[in-house]
Amino acid sequence: MAALAFISTLTVLTGVGKLLVFRVPALRRMQELNHAADERKLARGRFREAVESSNRAGLLTNAVFFATILPLSVSLSPRPLWRNGADVVAVLMIFDFFYYLTHRFLFHGRLLHKVHALHHQARTPTYVDALYVHPLETSIGLLLFLGSIPLVAFLNGGPLNAFAMAVATLIFTQLNTINHTFVDLPYFPFKTIDWITSIHAAHHVDMTRGNFATLTMLYDWLFGTLEAPVSRSTP
Ligand SMILES: [Zn+2]
Ligand SMILES: [Zn+2]
Repeated sequence: MAALAFISTLTVLTGVGKLLVFRVPALRRMQELNHAADERKLARGRFREAVESSNRAGLLTNAVFFATILPLSVSLSPRPLWRNGADVVAVLMIFDFFYYLTHRFLFHGRLLHKVHALHHQARTPTYVDALYVHPLETSIGLLLFLGSIPLVAFLNGGPLNAFAMAVATLIFTQLNTINHTFVDLPYFPFKTIDWITSIHAAHHVDMTRGNFATLTMLYDWLFGTLEAPVSRSTP
């Protein structure tokens, strides 16, 4: 029941969020620009096939996790709001730490650089490039995030709240996708989203210098790999 509540909450929040966000004219304009650039990329058969096999790998990884580990890691028992908030932050920060290490030393190391090279064909990323990832990399990235949920549950000594974990997963999936979109809105109230996209764009320009984390820039800042954002005026 808790796993089902997790999946349905995540689906509803994602759908409602999209409906509300794209009512804002400036964000709708950015969505259209990304969509046009994505269509041009997807017109190439090999690009489309790569996106489809990444999606299949993601679906399979999610399905296995949802059927096996998730039901043991979440429950419907209420927890104080502050505990839920702390659990969400812990899951996201633990994932981001392990993702930073994996991205910096495995994806950009000798072991998996050929796998990661596919994603780095995108020098000027748009929305669809978040999905233009080798299936192995898709599964590794997802497992790092999904694995953070049972890890925090274990440290907590019991399952975490299903709704709180749906919120953590929503933040993970959205930030991981938004950071690849083209956004040119360097003014209030869009400055943060403009910065998020520009900071990951810098990683796609020079590839190995920095900005290896994906949710926050804390670990890049701590370990001295933080790069300045790169802005673009066209996708
Ligand atoms: Zn990327
Ligand atoms: Zn990279």
